[in-house]
Amino acid sequence: MMFKKSQKLYKKGLVNLVGAVNSPVRAFSSVGGNPLFIKKAKGSKIVDVDNNEYVDLVLSYGPMILGHRHKKVQKAITKSLKNGYSFGASTENEIKLAKIVCEAFPGMDKVRFVNSGTEAVLSGIRLARAYTGKDKIIKFSGCYHGHQDALLVAAGSGLATLSLPGSKGVPEGAVKNTLIAEYNNLESVKAHFEKHDDIAGVIIEPVAGNMGVVTPKDNFLKELKTYLASKNALLIVDEVMTGFRSKFGGAQELFDVEADITCLGKVIGGGFPVGAYGARNEIMEMVAPLGGMYQAGTLSGNPIAMAGGIATLTELKKQNPYDQFNETASILEVFLLESAKKYGVEIKVNRFGSMINPFFTNKEVINFEDAQTCDTNKFATFFWEMIKNGVFLPPSQFEAWFLSSTLKDKDLEKISKAIDAGMLAVSKL
Ligand SMILES: *Cc1c(COP(=O)(O)O)cnc(C)c1O
Repeated sequence: MMFKKSQKLYKKGLVNLVGAVNSPVRAFSSVGGNPLFIKKAKGSKIVDVDNNEYVDLVLSYGPMILGHRHKKVQKAITKSLKNGYSFGASTENEIKLAKIVCEAFPGMDKVRFVNSGTEAVLSGIRLARAYTGKDKIIKFSGCYHGHQDALLVAAGSGLATLSLPGSKGVPEGAVKNTLIAEYNNLESVKAHFEKHDDIAGVIIEPVAGNMGVVTPKDNFLKELKTYLASKNALLIVDEVMTGFRSKFGGAQELFDVEADITCLGKVIGGGFPVGAYGARNEIMEMVAPLGGMYQAGTLSGNPIAMAGGIATLTELKKQNPYDQFNETASILEVFLLESAKKYGVEIKVNRFGSMINPFFTNKEVINFEDAQTCDTNKFATFFWEMIKNGVFLPPSQFEAWFLSSTLKDKDLEKISKAIDAGMLAVSKL
């Protein structure tokens, strides 16, 4: 396998782009080598500029849940393009997508569309503060909620991969109202409430996907919600990654817990820049123009993006691929565990719906501390074997692999062979 053109573009890219990437997770910092440059993708496959073809388990970090360029999505956006790109005024498609989203999440009477997950979460936090009149927010170590200042502490994958404790440029004042708790540990949340009486709410990834996949313990989310209600604090559920992924109604449907404020992104745009936050009427009525919480966006509700989102969610609902995702993920889990066993490599595998990943550790991973026991060198070796055997993975131990509904048996065979090659290589380290 040759990466000549990618290498050339990487060098070129270094001149005017930062690290030749527009998001640090795309850099290959923790696995070594140069990032791949992509030419095109279709269905379950992605092709780099050197014409190497891979089964794609990155899927743009989640949005391409139907696979790349699904016919119906392509048709919808092509049609929308013909009418113009952006108007600075409302369109009918915004109402349609809002209805689909609100129907999927019973806790959402109203929704506001924005352009990214980061925007969705920063607006959701502002809303929690506006509604409660309190300033402090609790977040969990290892959860990532976008790159807004206030939440850029103990923030999972991108930062863990680069070994940065937080971020430069974030003033102390911006994080002084952020409290950190431990995932799957309700006591660590209660401890904060015992010390502070001005906590607006808790933000959580209902299934964490940014420290690798970490699922909530049995009743963790429900108990958290009940506890917060008793403290007049809000549960802000960041479903940017999990929304529409394990069930159409997200992790909230699966775990039967209702958020006070829900944040969405990734899948709802089907590959276009869309984020959203929503809540019941009394909370959303705080948002301008109905209320005094300001939040705006020149391109928010962009017509092409709305068309992509509607087509993606409509098709997803029709396909209802969630049982299939669980089945495929369980097959992958078996591949991983059996191959690791065969070569004497210690791993743990966590999965949730269409998200799965192996951790190169012998410790069960239920929080960020556990995730950090992983041997990232082993992951780097494994990653490159997967690439060489035609499987495109996120270049980090701490990212989930994503499955699309277009994965075929042949793709699974290829993945299985690649995993075997990967584990063999790791066993020789
Ligand atoms: C990706 C992600 C975000 C940020 O979304 P962007 O669109 O990258 O800004 C926020 N929260 C979670 C849980 C995510 O996975």
